[in-house]
Amino acid sequence: MAKGQLEFQEEVDAARIENAMWRSWKADGSGDHSGDHSAKTEKLERVRGSIGDSIDFSQIRYPQETRRCRYDDLPTFPVRPNFAGFENALQPASQCVVFDGCPEDPYHPSNTPIYQTSTFVQPSSSEFGPYDYTRSGNPTRTALEKHVAMLEHAAAAFAFSSGMAALHTVTRLLKQGDEILVNEDIYGGMHRLLTQDCAHNGVQVTFVDTTNLTAVAKAITPKTKIIHTESPSNPRMKISDLRKLATLAHQHKVLLSVDSTMMPPVICQPLLLGVDLVVHSATKFFSGHADCTGGLVCVRDPELAHRVAFLQNAEGTALAPFECFLFLRGIKTMWLRVNRAQENTVQIAKALAKHPRIKEVFYPGPGGCSSEALRIHNSQSSGCGCIISFTTGSVSFSRRFLDASRLFKTTVSFGSVNSLGEMPCTMSHASIPAEERTLPADLVRLSVGIEDVRDLLQDLQRALDFASSQKPPPEHDGYDSRFEDLPVVPRPPDEEERPRKSLSEWLLSEVEGPSTSQMLSGPCPCCWESS
Ligand code: PLP
Repeated sequence: MAKGQLEFQEEVDAARIENAMWRSWKADGSGDHSGDHSAKTEKLERVRGSIGDSIDFSQIRYPQETRRCRYDDLPTFPVRPNFAGFENALQPASQCVVFDGCPEDPYHPSNTPIYQTSTFVQPSSSEFGPYDYTRSGNPTRTALEKHVAMLEHAAAAFAFSSGMAALHTVTRLLKQGDEILVNEDIYGGMHRLLTQDCAHNGVQVTFVDTTNLTAVAKAITPKTKIIHTESPSNPRMKISDLRKLATLAHQHKVLLSVDSTMMPPVICQPLLLGVDLVVHSATKFFSGHADCTGGLVCVRDPELAHRVAFLQNAEGTALAPFECFLFLRGIKTMWLRVNRAQENTVQIAKALAKHPRIKEVFYPGPGGCSSEALRIHNSQSSGCGCIISFTTGSVSFSRRFLDASRLFKTTVSFGSVNSLGEMPCTMSHASIPAEERTLPADLVRLSVGIEDVRDLLQDLQRALDFASSQKPPPEHDGYDSRFEDLPVVPRPPDEEERPRKSLSEWLLSEVEGPSTSQMLSGPCPCCWESS
């Protein structure tokens, strides 16, 4: 390395160390005046955890310690900052936008490039660069993982090919004979994974109501290694007290894992509440546009991070660079999207609660849960999220309602910019056998999008009116995204009477020719007339 380069590298390393030292010093509220050797060693370990294990400390200011340089450390875990204990001075909306994913790129791109490569050339046959193989590590993925770690206050975050791959990784922390306690109304895919995969591999799966701390305390056995829950749960929107669950779990040396897919980091950061592992189906709010599938695991403890990094590489479940790019893009508007959708959600929940045909509304907002559940939810997050479930007292009414709705598209999943609706028992949670399901069959789940709430309210009202009527099912085929299916404002009478030329007719009269007329055959988007 040339001298200038070496100095630059040292400066970068020194800045990283200073930054990490500052964070770890701040974390325990003390300066470095103790002179106590074991305290210093502990701090050094913490610093090392903060900045990874690949900087040679002896070159800078510390005596060289024995390095535990395992092969797996190098490609799977390139140097990255530890955001546990990091205090970001920026507001959440800014944190989503202000992030340099590739500070070392010599061209300083404004946006993280897609490193669409499976391999990286190594400096020599006996040395590694920061990356060697994309399954093990890729700069676009590191950028996403760093940004997510920052938003979640994690020691490290890891991106997987789907939410299920992320959840699978959490279950892979268990060995044969270990036990996992899981909340009763867990997401259907996780229920399937646990009961039809983990259980077959010798892991004991026990379901428990995680909203009831006494029940959880009773259920913990010496074999219990992980408690896994969701708050709010999907789709019953039950609230668990994450702080108290974490305390309970840690008293028994058990890890607390939370699937926080419903609560993206712009409204809830479970690691700050004491949770050990946070999982997301990034397919939902991180994407926000229903255009990519991915999952995230975020951890507080660097040793646990090591294990997750190992599994990500060993099992080959990591997210591909293009999807990482899409999620990086999605994060930039996450705060805006979630906040707008939440505003809509509050209004929609109010309207549903007032409707005579709605039996019960479930959501972590006023009227959607008990006041105690709401108090707990508000103490651990800053918003109600964008999902509402409700019952109608009749499966056929719920079906008629969903089928008649035009803006709430009948779709599994949630967290997209557009509004969605589904019936969990036959859709997202259908993989849970009916006899094991705790969900009401008439339950409808809505994912509220960022449309104008007036349109959403009108659509719901129309669909509820239709479902209450005796009318036969609507004629549209369900996939009603055609222009002519959208509600049209009637034209004023004088305009109706005026002979109108369609856009296609006008264009044809202006530009004659067979190719133009071919191009313009089909309905005209401006006046809804067929040309
Ligand atoms: N967790 C929750 C709460 C979910 O709702 C889902 C999917 O709907 C998943 C995990 C699985 O995520 P993915 O579909 O990205 O594998």
